[in-house]
Amino acid sequence: MPLIAIARCGKTHDYIESVRSAGGEPWVLDPAVDRADSVIRAAGGLLLTGGDDVRPDLYGATPHPSFEGSEAGRDEYEIELVSRAIEADVPIFAICRGIQLLNVARGGTLVQDIPTERPSTVSHRLPTPAHAADEIAHTIHVEPDSLLSALVGSRLSDAATCSVNSRHHQAVDRLADGFRITAFAPDGIVEAVEDAGRQFCLGVQWHPESFYRTGEFIPLFEAFVRASRR
Ligand code: MN
Repeated sequence: MPLIAIARCGKTHDYIESVRSAGGEPWVLDPAVDRADSVIRAAGGLLLTGGDDVRPDLYGATPHPSFEGSEAGRDEYEIELVSRAIEADVPIFAICRGIQLLNVARGGTLVQDIPTERPSTVSHRLPTPAHAADEIAHTIHVEPDSLLSALVGSRLSDAATCSVNSRHHQAVDRLADGFRITAFAPDGIVEAVEDAGRQFCLGVQWHPESFYRTGEFIPLFEAFVRASRR
């Protein structure tokens, strides 16, 4: 059973359940004990999870007033995990903060606050517990001939859209070199990126793990776990 290293965050439950449902063995990392180099040697795949904002100085920006203080040391630890995983071509699946961290780790930048910097009528932030974690917030358009399109294929409408949840106020801005944007929200906000040059390197801005009970996005986890068998 592939060992899936999971970046520790406030709420790991749904990530753990999603990895288990997909046939992987979850390993929630403890940054105090699990050194990035040994993690990437031991793990079959790296799952980057949700959490606080990535520190703006890491992508050359000054903090927007909405900045939600990052967890001490988390950004640096996860950036090192990404660098080592990419070096070793270890599969990466990056969710919410994870897609943002992945983009920053590879040299990209972020929209720091969607409501003030990219205002629109699309709801990107339906906070829990006021909203169910799997409540649908908006649609996304998925680019054809992408890994994501192959994985969510059966859920796509004729217009290549599908419905997702949304709990973020930041997003990918300038895309890191080597990546391709493979899903957008109706307001143009980036909802997925992938690096086709790697065996599996996918980032999504919504929370597929919230659907583990009903399985809508389990194919994403299954493909990730499959790629992580080595
Ligand atoms: Mn969204």
